[in-house]
Amino acid sequence: MGQSTKTKKLDTKQVARKISQLIFLALLIIGVYMDIRMVIIILLPASLIFGNFFCGWACPYGTAQEFMAKIGKLFIKKRFKMPRKIQKYLQYLRYVLFAILMIGIIDVVLNYTNGYGTFMQFFSNNITPAASTISIIIMVSYLIISIFFERPFCNYLCTESAKYGILSMTRVFSIKRNEDTCINCKKCDKACPMNIEISTHSHVRNGQCINCFECISACPMENTLSFGKVKISLKRNKE
Ligand code: SF4
Ligand code: SF4
Repeated sequence: MGQSTKTKKLDTKQVARKISQLIFLALLIIGVYMDIRMVIIILLPASLIFGNFFCGWACPYGTAQEFMAKIGKLFIKKRFKMPRKIQKYLQYLRYVLFAILMIGIIDVVLNYTNGYGTFMQFFSNNITPAASTISIIIMVSYLIISIFFERPFCNYLCTESAKYGILSMTRVFSIKRNEDTCINCKKCDKACPMNIEISTHSHVRNGQCINCFECISACPMENTLSFGKVKISLKRNKE
């Protein structure tokens, strides 16, 4: 198959994603996000087939971290990326935290460090004792770190995201890479906010993927990265 570079055109996937993110953020700010949580929860079982659309499209705290990253990109050319050797292990931290939460140990500590929960409570005017000054400082700290490092809370600490990640391991639809047209430029790896190595796999089977499609947008080659049906397998891509 011949290789051709992309021509400049409107990135409809990213436009749709940005609109969705802004809608959910606005719903939180006007105070109705919590009331429609039962509608958003549909994204949880949907993850079994389509992967995690919650973090990349609907989570207001994910959107806030992304917004801070955009500001960072204006000033900082070389942003920090976790080295792969560390990422390989560190990416499991949120699952460990989720397991700890499930069995109810160090519940109090997790409440304080839960940036997602604090962010929701802050905007819902529903500050509980757990979301005290300390937890607000921690939540804001994650946002400041986002200026230098993509989605620090989502990547390693979010137990909400861990839920979606676990369910998305059976996903039927995912990011696919056409090995015939790929020029191995690794722009996709660089663009991925969840630090997934896309350029060495035929498709993404990784619980970290948040369906943000930034990899597709960054790829300079036509018909090389796409979102579509992949072979069902519980085997995870090696990182
Ligand atoms: S693999 Fe692509 S879609 Fe998945 S998180 Fe990374 S950039 Fe986003
Ligand atoms: S961005 Fe990734 S998939 Fe696209 S050509 Fe470069 S290495 Fe290949």
